[in-house]
Formats: sequence, structure tokens, C-alpha cells
Amino acid sequence: MTQFNTKLVHGPQLQTDKAGAIVPPVYQSAMYRFAPDGGTSDWDYARSSNPTRDYLERQIATLENGDAGFAFSSGVAAIATVLAIFPDGSHFIIGDSLYSGTDRLLNQYFAQHGLTFTPVDPRDLTAVEAAIRPETKAIFFETFSNPLLKVSSVKAISTLAKAHDLLTIVDNTFLTPYYQRPLDLGADIVLHSATKYIGGHGDLIAGLVVSASPEISEKIGFLQNTIGAILAPLDCSLVCRGIATLAVRLDRETSNAQAVAEFLEQHPDVAHVYYPGLKSDPGYALAQQETTGASGLLSIKLADNIDSIKFVNSTKVFDFADSLGTVSSLVKLPWFKLPEEKRSTSGLTPQHVRIAIGLEDQQDLIDDLAQALTAAEK
Ligand code: PLP
Repeated sequence: MTQFNTKLVHGPQLQTDKAGAIVPPVYQSAMYRFAPDGGTSDWDYARSSNPTRDYLERQIATLENGDAGFAFSSGVAAIATVLAIFPDGSHFIIGDSLYSGTDRLLNQYFAQHGLTFTPVDPRDLTAVEAAIRPETKAIFFETFSNPLLKVSSVKAISTLAKAHDLLTIVDNTFLTPYYQRPLDLGADIVLHSATKYIGGHGDLIAGLVVSASPEISEKIGFLQNTIGAILAPLDCSLVCRGIATLAVRLDRETSNAQAVAEFLEQHPDVAHVYYPGLKSDPGYALAQQETTGASGLLSIKLADNIDSIKFVNSTKVFDFADSLGTVSSLVKLPWFKLPEEKRSTSGLTPQHVRIAIGLEDQQDLIDDLAQALTAAEK
């Protein structure tokens, strides 16, 4: 049995290539020859499956210790397909600070099509249990929440869910299987925006899902083919390339993030640092138990004497952009992106900055933030 880093680089056995390719080839073909008498063959039409996607799907299933993997054209397409396995009238308990695009999908689309959602802080197990109704089918949350990095226990929520015959669905975009494997902690479905750390280079949009049981896999597989929001072969190949370097990228991004968080925690122009790798963070102890790293994302609240717009306009190494998990460092101001009606209850203010750390030299990142803070002093 090989260990995790070896699995990242080697992946599963290639089942098709006769040329002996070491890197899984891109099978840019929409259709495949198959026996006219209906005899079984692995591939016929590339929406249903193709060798490049099949390779990626088997690899992510192996990395998550799951039953089967599924690759989608985006993270939200992955989430939409997972939710579509549930019947009309299903109720879900959802994390109260989900990624805004997920929130929009649930509350502005699925809520109009027969599903209902109750947002709850997933750290509060009493509140989670109290929200369960007869028609509840699943609990869906992000392990490190966005953007304040609140840490929830996959183990505790999965145990609670099982006791009530519910499924646990975890969006583990921020941690990836390198730092946490939710299925090993009891979850039933794990999903990712592979646009972020797994793809890792900011050059594609992709989603991945892994299910724990054949019964769930069958439902997701049916809808992946039926809805058809699949990932194209070239993008599957790019995600495989991202997976090969996942560990080395995350090692660097996390050590950079730790150094940046420790620097900012001491800085008089920063009122608060949210990073579960800091001993002072309320999620630190749980993160130590259920993850093997705090990843490369942190948020800060700037002190009142700092102009937040001027701060993000003054960084030179950090770009102002709306993503994370890529090779270069990014900043964004999450409060400004919230719909008006959500601003007062979000726990965010115009002073909050989300910082996604990249692969640059640690000192350059620290120096850049330091000069931007000085430039933004009122
Ligand atoms: N889940 C999380 C935690 C995200 O941050 C995002 C996007 O930022 C998504 C899901 C949606 O993924 P995508 O943008 O690939 O559709």
C-alpha cells in the first residue's frame, strides 16, 4: 500500500494507454467504438465517461478513501448535482456561512424547486440537533468556514447525523484530502471546488465529489450523466497535474500563511487574525485533532485607523482578486461582496480582509503587507 504523497504523484493504474504514457493522456474524443451487439465496453460517449476523466475520478476517490469520484465543470455544478439526488420536499441543515455562490444556489434556486434549508452554526451541535425535522435528509457544511475560518467537527457532526439517519456532506475545498479526509471521519459525501487548491494554478474551474458508499455513488453517477455538468478532458488532465503537486504547494502555502498570521497577530494595525493555525484561534485545538494542517487561507480585521480600500490598493505582491488556492497571493474585502440584507448578520465589516497565501517568498509577503498597512494608515 503506497502512502499519500506517492498516491498524489502516481495516481491509479492507467487502463487504456498502449503507448506507455507516464502522464495520463488527454482523450479528446467525444465518442468511442463499442460492440454493436451491446456487449459491455468501458466507454461509448464522453459525457457518460472518458478515460481522462475516469483517471481523475479514480484518483480523487483513492485520495479520499471513498467508493467513487466524480468530476464536474465547477464546484457549484458538483454541489447542484449532489443536491439533485434528494427527493422533492427534502430539508437540509446547512452551515450558516457557506460560500456565497453555494448560498445562492441553495436559497435562490433549490429553495424554489422543493428543497428547504435551515442555516445553523455547525460548531453548535445542540443547535444542529434542534434543527432536525422529520423531512431532514442531510447536514451540509464547510469544515473551515468562509471567510472567518471557523472550524467545525466532521466527526461530531457525522456521529450526530448517523444517529438521526441523515447524511453528512462536507465541502472540503479549503483543506483538500492532504489536510483532512472527511469520509474517514464519518462523512458520506465530500466535495471540492477544484478551482482552488486541488487545481492549484488559477487556470481552470472544476468541481470534485467523492461518495462513501456504492448506493450514493450510483445516484450521483446517474445524475452526473443525466444533468451532464461534466469536466472536459483537458481540464481533467490539468486537475491531475495540480494533484501531483498538491502536497508541496500546500506545505509552502501553509508555512507562509503561518508566518504571515503570526506577523499580523503582533501588528498594531491589525485588530484580529482568523487562522486556525494560531494557538490563540478558537478552532486551533479541533484543527489539531481533525486536520494535519491549517492550509493557506486567513482573514484579518484591520484596526480602525486603517483604510481597508487603501490597504488592498497598496499591496504590490498580493493581487486583489476573488479566489484562493492558486500559486500567487490574493486579497479581497468580503463584506463589500455581500448582499445588503446579509451585511449586518454576517459577522463581517468593511475592515475584514481575506488573504489567500501563495508560493512567494515568505519575507516578500510580510514586507508587502507591512508597507500596505503603513500606506493605509489614516
Ligand atoms: N465551495 C467553496 C468553499 C468555494 O470557495 C467555492 C468557490 O469559491 C465553491 C464551493 C464553488 O466552486 P466553483 O467556483 O469552482 O464553482
